[in-house]
Amino acid sequence: MTTIAKPAVQVPVTPKPTMRCLYKHHAGVGLKFDGQRNRPVPGPRDVLIRVKKAGICGTDRHIWEWDQWAAGRIPVGIVTGHEFVGTIEAVGPAVTKYQPGLRVSAEGHITAGLDYNSRTGNAHIASDTRIIGIDRDGCFADYVVVPEENVWPVHPSIPDKVAAVLDPLGNAVHTVMAAGVSARSVLVSGVGIIGLMGVTVAKAAGASRIFCTDVNPARLALARKLGAVEAYDARKGDGFISDVRRATRGEGVDVLLEMSGAESAMIQGFRALRSGGTAALLGLPAKQVTFDFNEHIIFKGCTVLGINGRKMFETWYQMEELLLSGRLELDEIITHEFPLEDFERAFRTMMTGEGIKVVLNVGA
Ligand code: ZN
Repeated sequence: MTTIAKPAVQVPVTPKPTMRCLYKHHAGVGLKFDGQRNRPVPGPRDVLIRVKKAGICGTDRHIWEWDQWAAGRIPVGIVTGHEFVGTIEAVGPAVTKYQPGLRVSAEGHITAGLDYNSRTGNAHIASDTRIIGIDRDGCFADYVVVPEENVWPVHPSIPDKVAAVLDPLGNAVHTVMAAGVSARSVLVSGVGIIGLMGVTVAKAAGASRIFCTDVNPARLALARKLGAVEAYDARKGDGFISDVRRATRGEGVDVLLEMSGAESAMIQGFRALRSGGTAALLGLPAKQVTFDFNEHIIFKGCTVLGINGRKMFETWYQMEELLLSGRLELDEIITHEFPLEDFERAFRTMMTGEGIKVVLNVGA
């Protein structure tokens, strides 16, 4: 018996719109460029944003290097990146507030808003937090999708370069504002990207005197330029602690902003903190630390604050006010910009320490 082949029916296929992106292509080092990724489609309450600039974060470095944290957290295949500015391209049918054409950034921590912390003003520590570029597709791409609630319209007087890094700047603002620095002496331990932002934010927020420590002389020099009265090389040992104490009536600083995550810096920082002082901890130690609670916290009666993300959206309003005050100096912290396709050079510039904050120019 013979079968007669039917002529193939030609179904017209409209090609899905695509975009360029950087994604985690394997469980190992690096990221890969894809010029043909499917463009994300916004859900009913989502906003589709055309990305203009995106900041490279320390977190992206962990993802690039594929360290233990990244290997345990990051799904292979994901589009990375979580700091950006862009323009709304399209909105889902249930979006009520925003329209295409608006220049925006976004809070990258997405929650359903239903757990205890979300319902009591602490959504930044919600149990169901999913982060763009970490748990779901991020912004090293022509397009990114976020829920309407996460959109942050950018004030017209804030330049794109700054609007691209509101996420880390918000970490610095959250740390400074939680500790309370007005008319108080402050030690910033670790002046990497967020530590340097912390210096200019603390100055703008009314800190009386800012002391800094780090192991990088260039960063220490920049911290001084941004307003630190003293910047100490922590590699030279604990000698600076007596200098700080001498300068603060023999008591120690009122506030410690811990931005390094280094065990030795943490211990030095607490030694330089006065009894009854406040320590706000943002730096993430790579492993468990050995720390004398009796000496550093209990007997001293210190207040210790863990800082995670940005308060939604109190931190964002405070950050906008500080930016509009004209008192934040960010130009020398955002050192380099590269086109998206030049991402390998961009990451190298950041990872070697040649650049401080490095921004990818994604679109026009
Ligand atoms: Zn970041």
